Amino acid sequence: MSENILIKARYILINAERYIENGYVLIKDGIIEGVGKAEDLNEDENYALFNFGNAIVAPGFINTHTHAAMVGMRGMADDLPLKTWLEKYIWPAELKLVNREFIMKTIPLAIAEMLSSGITTFVDMYFFEDLTAEIVKSTGMRAVLGEGIIDGPTPAFENPKNVMDFVEVFARNYEKDSFIFPAVAPHAPYSTSKETLLKSKQLSEKYGIPLLIHVAETRWEFEEIKTRYGLAPFSYLNSIGFLDEKVIAAHSIWVEESELEILGKRKVNISHNPESNAKLSSGICPVSDFLKHGINVTIGTDGACSNNNLDIIEEMRTASFIQKIRTMNPEALSAREIFKMATESGARALGLAEKLGTIEKGKWADLAIISLDSPGLQPIFDPYSHLVYTCKSSDIKATMVDGKFLYIGGQYHTIDIDAVMYNIQKVEELIRKEIFNEH
Ligand SMILES: [Zn+2]
Repeated sequence: MSENILIKARYILINAERYIENGYVLIKDGIIEGVGKAEDLNEDENYALFNFGNAIVAPGFINTHTHAAMVGMRGMADDLPLKTWLEKYIWPAELKLVNREFIMKTIPLAIAEMLSSGITTFVDMYFFEDLTAEIVKSTGMRAVLGEGIIDGPTPAFENPKNVMDFVEVFARNYEKDSFIFPAVAPHAPYSTSKETLLKSKQLSEKYGIPLLIHVAETRWEFEEIKTRYGLAPFSYLNSIGFLDEKVIAAHSIWVEESELEILGKRKVNISHNPESNAKLSSGICPVSDFLKHGINVTIGTDGACSNNNLDIIEEMRTASFIQKIRTMNPEALSAREIFKMATESGARALGLAEKLGTIEKGKWADLAIISLDSPGLQPIFDPYSHLVYTCKSSDIKATMVDGKFLYIGGQYHTIDIDAVMYNIQKVEELIRKEIFNEH
């Protein structure tokens, strides 16, 4: 049974342009019913009041690229270039470790970590997404889920042909769902054939669902695709008709000047993952150039193996700082621009702009509430600046999805955190034994 809720706080961030001071948000049956100044509120109505006082209420953050289950392998292989890291460590380890039991033990941990960072929707590319969907559902969070497709066996499918059938059944099963959003997720242009990419695109068109892919992540990939096809990665994808507004391209670092126009014209969405890119020395995504060309740029954490956390507040701050260094321009990527990337632009990339991304009447009540009480947050002049440059995930007071507090005051309402911690200990033991040969 859903409860009618009245939230009050010092700042309500409607979107990147507008906020209300000393405001309220009214929520009924999981939908935002009203937003305004507290003094204009008619207090007669029967709502459960949550007065957060000195706090920011923001639209829930949207993490547009992750591999949630990889929290189980956090810190397992660090300080390596992407190609070695993937081929020598991650892919062999995944074939050994990743099964339904691994998913059961890791996804709740990833969800707990994301909720404590104010994330209300995440986009996942991994394996056993049918099981991930069930777990996400049980926690009340939202997720866009794309079963990993490569031209070879995955932990979930020995035969790549069977993945496509799975994707189709999965898409149909969740067609009308408002928590689980199926997607098609071919891994990357270098790990999937043209046929696989086109089949993926067909499914995305048939079901009107997002098309998730890693593109132009490393210089190696850029050169490899040029050698194979005579074109840079995005030009190649454009030449086979892959690019459109359903595509969410993760990383997108190695982009030629001439490709900016293509991306704008095709309305491709970019998921910028600055910390993963920095850790793997992949490079810096040209976000400022993308924005100049009207390209929709969003924020993702990537998996916890290449980050090594799912902290979107930290990711926002890094995204801004790293762009200022890339352009040697302190005006590049302001706090408000970053805020928009993590909220409204994320919603737009998922095709959910009418339901998510801003605090407006009629939208789903997905909110992140950030306390401004800690000494390191004083004084306060601009809530956007504070949120992006000063706050930490530990300042997150509550995270609400669909009008329900899933995380509040350090407590999880839909996750048995003791069981989660016990299970992840078992994963650690397994990795010590199977990967590090400790006995
Ligand atoms: Zn990734």
